[in-house]
Amino acid sequence: MLWFSEEVRPGLWVGFTDAAAGNLAFHVGDAPARVSANRAAVDARVTGMAGASSGLHLQYMDQVHGRDVAEVRVPAPAPASGTLPAGPTADAMVSRSASLAVMVADCVPVVFAGADAGGAPVLGVAHAGRPGVEKGVIAATVSGLRTAGAVTLQAWIGPSVCGRCYEVPEEMRAAVSAVEPAACSTTSWGTPALDLPAAVAARLDGLGVPARNVGVCTLEHDSFFSHRRSVRDGAAEGRFIGFAALASGRD
Ligand SMILES: [Zn+2]
Repeated sequence: MLWFSEEVRPGLWVGFTDAAAGNLAFHVGDAPARVSANRAAVDARVTGMAGASSGLHLQYMDQVHGRDVAEVRVPAPAPASGTLPAGPTADAMVSRSASLAVMVADCVPVVFAGADAGGAPVLGVAHAGRPGVEKGVIAATVSGLRTAGAVTLQAWIGPSVCGRCYEVPEEMRAAVSAVEPAACSTTSWGTPALDLPAAVAARLDGLGVPARNVGVCTLEHDSFFSHRRSVRDGAAEGRFIGFAALASGRD
């Protein structure tokens, strides 16, 4: 269920799920009751791992391939059964108290953990697909984290489609590479491609944020959901998540 997890400090965890956690998105045609159950199971697992004394609930967002960053001021409540949980329309979130999730299936999930000058935690997540990378969602997220008080920051780059698999038209490669030169890539079969995780890593480095790429290629590894593989194979769509969770953010 949790493919990668790391305790950044007591009670503060970051990680990524895999397909064994099931689909965690309501917008891809899956049965809502099943999505709710999958999310509840992940919440329970993260709660136990973080040592929260009561249920911790990840806050999800309505992702639109933009660069808006929402500040989440209160931890998400327990989801009510039969209703879609509320969340901001944004492609990044920052918080000092809430546990956050970003959904992906080829786009780059980035999770952040840091602290303010007094040592209090500051968390963030970002959804960096091709449009978000081009629009500057990573810089916007780091700016949002620093505005929220972060003076120290670390980032983790999770599983996404790699630069040898993500074929794009030549014009698209040129347009994105003009903004993020590290994105320029070539597929393993010799056609124009984009390396989004490399672009994210380069941008974070330029912003002075130490980052670890803990990801593998979603298209090449079926232990993750991949939008491109679903289209290619006619298989059901799904989304896995990156998360930053805070036990003291419990309700
Ligand atoms: Zn690949």
